[in-house]
Amino acid sequence: MQPVIGILGLQGDVREHARALDASGARAVTVRRPEELDGLDGIVIPGGESTTMGKLLVTFELLEPLRVAVRAGLPAYGSCAGMILLADSVLDGTIGQPTIGGLDVVVRRNAFGRQIDSFEADVQIDGMAGAAVRAVFIRAPAVESVGAGVTVIGRVEAVRHEAAAPHVGRIVAVRQGNLLATAFHPELTGDTRVHRLLVDLARGINSGHGDEEQR
Ligand code: GLN
Repeated sequence: MQPVIGILGLQGDVREHARALDASGARAVTVRRPEELDGLDGIVIPGGESTTMGKLLVTFELLEPLRVAVRAGLPAYGSCAGMILLADSVLDGTIGQPTIGGLDVVVRRNAFGRQIDSFEADVQIDGMAGAAVRAVFIRAPAVESVGAGVTVIGRVEAVRHEAAAPHVGRIVAVRQGNLLATAFHPELTGDTRVHRLLVDLARGINSGHGDEEQR
């Protein structure tokens, strides 16, 4: 089966996500209207600016339908600002910042500070075959804590920039049932393995419910 995966197309790297999804065996479609959620097997919430995306979600009347869809079990993958939008709790957000929620984590916006607002690191994703993912962080959030049903699947490991050394160990990839989120942008590196995790969820493969061990 070729799953149909939507990409929220209000802001961000829509084309790069579409390329990664198409290369992973899915059919990617852009979502800008509530009706375009119908019939999806999964959705990507890309990076961008979470406060702006939150406002656009309200304007485009997508916020409520997305909340409903995610809570009903639609597989979803949030990258960077998308991780913030899927989080139940946001630190350093703006007052009343709208979010989709569903992922039982506390996320801090711009968690890596200003001095190195962009950096790269290796992140070994639990359960993913092959080498660590080369993760690109751009004014990225980090996960400060996770609820009982959430599995941490990736932390900052080897950094490629001395100034990023204090960030080693921070949580940057999580999974809860059908929800997946990374603080980094895998669509920028040509490595489709993270997108394949979403495609597997969309196919109903490996849809465990947080039964993996916590770390
Ligand atoms: N700092 C952004 C925010 O708060 C996220 C950055 C990104 O998505 N690259 O939404």
